[in-house]
Amino acid sequence: MAYLGNLTCRECGLTFTARWGSFENADEYRCHHDHVVHVEPSSGTVLAVDGDVADGRTLVQLHGLCPVCRTELATGLLPSCPVCSGRDHQVLLSGMIG
Ligand SMILES: [Zn+2]
Ligand SMILES: [Zn+2]
Repeated sequence: MAYLGNLTCRECGLTFTARWGSFENADEYRCHHDHVVHVEPSSGTVLAVDGDVADGRTLVQLHGLCPVCRTELATGLLPSCPVCSGRDHQVLLSGMIG
């Protein structure tokens, strides 16, 4: 399930609109720099990196690191704040996708 909503940063107070979460056949991973990587759940194949089609490598081949900046990828992260990069937000959901 992917979500759309307003996030209010608890660090700096900024409110911004974002989309996050996983689709049925694409788990969402985020790195420290908030690059979004979609991964096919059964094979571990990277489908897309920040919206661009990926080169077919798997998470294992990438050692669980972001193909763009080589920092560690994790699931279930909220988008980071565009101002202070904090990830602690108050969430106001406005919709769900998929
Ligand atoms: Zn912030
Ligand atoms: Zn990255």
